[in-house]
Amino acid sequence: MATKKPLAKEIPDVVYDDKGKPYKKGRFLGKGGFARCYELYDRQRNITFAGKIISKHLLKGSNQKEKVTQEVTIHRDLCHPHVVRFDGYFEDPENIYILLELCPRRSLVELHKRRGALTPPEVRYMTLQIAEGIEYLHARAIIHRDLKLANVFLNDRMIAKIGDFGLATMMEKGNERKKTLCGTPNYIAPEVLEKAGHAFEVDVWALGCILYTLLVGTPPFETKSLQETYRRIKSNQYRIPSTIGNTAAKVIRELLAANPASRPKIGDVRKYAYFTEYTPTHLPTSCLTLPPKFS
Ligand code: ADP
Repeated sequence: MATKKPLAKEIPDVVYDDKGKPYKKGRFLGKGGFARCYELYDRQRNITFAGKIISKHLLKGSNQKEKVTQEVTIHRDLCHPHVVRFDGYFEDPENIYILLELCPRRSLVELHKRRGALTPPEVRYMTLQIAEGIEYLHARAIIHRDLKLANVFLNDRMIAKIGDFGLATMMEKGNERKKTLCGTPNYIAPEVLEKAGHAFEVDVWALGCILYTLLVGTPPFETKSLQETYRRIKSNQYRIPSTIGNTAAKVIRELLAANPASRPKIGDVRKYAYFTEYTPTHLPTSCLTLPPKFS
């Protein structure tokens, strides 16, 4: 028998943090597995945040609460231009509230839905920014473990920011391999599927999947069935269309190496010849709907 999920209560128009400071609820931004996201406006500072609001009722009876604590613990100290900024955290009897830097231009999912394959300069721009964000995380012994288009957000200046640390983990020893991952990452690496032990290389794999998807227009291992997709990931079966240049194909092949030890370290990704080709320093917001003309 299907068990009914308890319904989360409606969020009040004003929420208060531990010190009694009010935040005015604004636009609805979206809904995730456990969270609802709304704009939350701090009048004192005149800043609007993305408020990730998690109902405590929905967290009951599972290890979800520890996962939120883990997410907060990992995310709270991070500070980098390509990582969504964590501003604060509070709770009331109903909900947990996480205040995040607002990314009004949504995520790469919406950009991808609208535009399909991006132009190579845009792909290099996005990939390099995401790689910089990952490099910052790896330098702090953090593995994100769920890098995907939906977890790369865009601010008003079209700057890419990595968000959602719900599956992230911290490495304690240098040569440790993580054995478990509770959740289903979108661009899951073969060593995770094989339960062979995984580490930083899973983020490099996911970056390869992101680069491929942005450039080709469809994900490398996508099929109609998850089982078949997993079989292809395990056998490293994907095609690079002949229209993709050699420099891009080389990066894709190396990021998507079956053996995690053969993938480049995140700090070496930008050294590929592909990334010496023209890369804009900014992108106009018109890119959200139309391919830019680079002159
Ligand atoms: P999930 O549970 O799928 O990981 P999240 O809880 O991270 O999703 O986010 C839920 C929704 O809120 C998503 O649709 C996402 O686009 C939006 N969102 C999350 N973070 C931000 C942000 N910093 N700025 C703007 N929108 C955001």
